[in-house]
Amino acid sequence: MFNKVLIANRGEIALRIQRACRELGIKTVAVYSQADADAKYVRLADESVCIGPPSSADSYLNIPAIISAAEVTNAEAIHPGYGFLSENADFAERAQQSGYVFIGPKPETIRLMGDKISAKIEMVDSNVPVVKGSKGVLPDDSKLVMATAEELGYPVLIKAAGGGGGRGMRVVERGADLISSVAMTRQEAESAFGNGALYMEKYLANPRHIEIQVMADCVNNAVSLGDRDCSMQRRHQKIIEEATAPLVSTDAKQMIGQKCVDACKKMGYIGAGTFEFLFEDGEFYFIEMNTRLQVEHPVTEMITGQDLVKLQIKVAAGEKLGLLQKDIGFNGHAIECRINAENAKNFRPCPGQITEWHAPGGPGIRVDSHVYNNYFVPPYYDSMIAKIIAHGKDRGEAISRMQIALSEMVIEGIDTNIELHRELLGDGNFLSGGTSIHYLEKKLGRA
Ligand code: ADP
Repeated sequence: MFNKVLIANRGEIALRIQRACRELGIKTVAVYSQADADAKYVRLADESVCIGPPSSADSYLNIPAIISAAEVTNAEAIHPGYGFLSENADFAERAQQSGYVFIGPKPETIRLMGDKISAKIEMVDSNVPVVKGSKGVLPDDSKLVMATAEELGYPVLIKAAGGGGGRGMRVVERGADLISSVAMTRQEAESAFGNGALYMEKYLANPRHIEIQVMADCVNNAVSLGDRDCSMQRRHQKIIEEATAPLVSTDAKQMIGQKCVDACKKMGYIGAGTFEFLFEDGEFYFIEMNTRLQVEHPVTEMITGQDLVKLQIKVAAGEKLGLLQKDIGFNGHAIECRINAENAKNFRPCPGQITEWHAPGGPGIRVDSHVYNNYFVPPYYDSMIAKIIAHGKDRGEAISRMQIALSEMVIEGIDTNIELHRELLGDGNFLSGGTSIHYLEKKLGRA
């Protein structure tokens, strides 16, 4: 096992990883920007290194500064968390070349799955169902582009191979708009991702977002840790996630889980990964793979009793998973609400000083947060400040525990989306389960 791990991230996930390291007896190095100098988790770490000014580009995305921090502290491995450099194959490669273990898959795997076109081709080869679409990169020839769209049937979705975070996508309703939409998306993709390669998919009208969590070791053992439903989204950002997905048969879940495990084995996957699917009319359609830990990993931890971060660290250290598929059981239901520092009406980020902070508790409640009384939420980063996770023997109990937790939670001094969560946890359609990815936006539009 490692002696010391550098955590190349901030906020709640930096604290979460630190806790896993401490349980494993591993010393931790926190890296931080000047804006996070006072964060509690920075002080709790065994060592800490300032890696630059507040802006992410100069700190949490600054590869040389992070590698130097690993050098001066003699860390052996780097955990990238989620976001920032977690899916940056160049970073993984640089870390390895400098002598550090990158806690994640091999750089070539990150590269393969990071390009959405090569990822889809890999999935087709692995027998994982994908959304119908163009075969590989969309050609320049307008006639061929038109023919592809007609074959799929409108509406179609133009997507950037290098896209991410819900950007680099455009829905096209009719043939007359197709060529200009392709040109616009290409231009945006070139400037935003430095990669103008596009592909086309059938646009699904009313899908749910269901994903499969996998974990694999370096001797090619892989298991599925089940599914999560993350359909409650605004602007493609998830805000409530649950495990397991309601109203989907166990057989269908097991079938898709097994396909993901087989795909992992075929590509020699190592570490934690998530296969994201759209789910419509009883069918799964792969859209992308995340080659890292997810924000919503706690709901899986609650129902499987497995610690995903400890498993990630163990397999990165070369230990065997020590788990077979039959060892993975599911106990009850878990729901996560992402608490964001944002205005309840216009959703603009609302950084600032937290003057009162009371986290909920009680049976089945877990709060993952780095926040405390008088914490200052810096304006430079993602607005998520806490995750509340409720676990119950079934979905009904998890919901009722979450409702109580939300009623207890107090955050003053800044705006948050707690009120929206309270409303959603009482929403008849959410209570029934199985709402589509468009549900929240439609509901907000009506309000
Ligand atoms: P990103 O990497 O930007 O998150 P994804 O490929 O995961 O991109 O897609 C983001 C979201 O866009 C999905 O969660 C879903 O809401 C929507 N989406 C993607 N592909 C399709 C599709 N073919 N039909 C309908 N919606 C889609």
